Amino acid sequence: MSRIFSGIQPSGELHIGNYLGAVKNWAALQHQFESFFCVVNYHAIIGSYEPADLVRRTHEMAVGLLAAGLDPAVCTIFVQSQVPEHTELAWIFNTLTPLGELERQTQYKDKASRQEQVMAGLLNYPVLQAADILLYRADVVPVGEDQVQHLELSRVVARNWNARFSSGAPYFPEPQPRLTPTRRIVGLDGQAKMSKSIGNTVGLLETPEQIWDKLRPAVTDPARQRKTDAGEPERCNTIYQLHRAFSPAETVAEVEVNCRGAKWGCIDCKKVLHQHMVAELTPIRERAVALQADPALVQDVLQAGAAKARVVASRTIADVKEKMGLPLA
Ligand code: SF4
Repeated sequence: MSRIFSGIQPSGELHIGNYLGAVKNWAALQHQFESFFCVVNYHAIIGSYEPADLVRRTHEMAVGLLAAGLDPAVCTIFVQSQVPEHTELAWIFNTLTPLGELERQTQYKDKASRQEQVMAGLLNYPVLQAADILLYRADVVPVGEDQVQHLELSRVVARNWNARFSSGAPYFPEPQPRLTPTRRIVGLDGQAKMSKSIGNTVGLLETPEQIWDKLRPAVTDPARQRKTDAGEPERCNTIYQLHRAFSPAETVAEVEVNCRGAKWGCIDCKKVLHQHMVAELTPIRERAVALQADPALVQDVLQAGAAKARVVASRTIADVKEKMGLPLA
């Protein structure tokens, strides 16, 4: 069975952008691949943060992942800092990564240009990401479009290490990207990608009432000022896209006809979307409520996941050290 690895930042409660853009896909992929899913808290300490807040966000993310369908009996789910081999391999890869490759990463340039003092961790972030993936010698990495460049760097790192230290067949596979089917979820403002920092999200665990309070004022096709104005679903970045993600095909077809023909108002359209979202999200919220009531269970799942991950991770580190002339402990 091929192996996949993917990580997610501990941003606290998942929103439907994370769910549709990554986690829902992971829940399906866990049955097709040997799967490692990681809450990447070492990545989250680049920049200022409060330690107690990071603990809470890490726990909430784990609850969200489990509630959304990641099954610890099928996949390995764990927290990055509980598997110290991640940072050990990252240091080794730092010694093989050309500085120029890191400096031309688009995300680095974007973020660095907005900071007065740039920390080395921001530059080296993709090296840790390469270590995350290659530690498990993953063949496939489910990614969003904005992560493809980082994955290419992981492939360069694998190639460089193999060229220098593999004897015979390459030790590290060059991981292949697998783009998530739902690529970019636009927020309720109809403009930017759904993001907690912008405040244009719907939380995955929100109640039906809270979801409706978010959907009702959400931006739609600006051409539909009145119910009698014909619209274009393609201009309705948020609601139409969410219909395609949550509603059955016949409902999506109905949305297109009713929008173009001005046969209903946007509130009617949103009410139908709301029904389908609630139908899919209610079981997730109910599972999350049960998990929130039992924090020890969630911690046990993460501990067991870390122990399972370390079996693979320690094997890789032992092989790497042996091939590089580094004595084991
Ligand atoms: Fe968007 Fe639906 Fe309104 Fe058309 S009818 S603009 S798809 S909310």
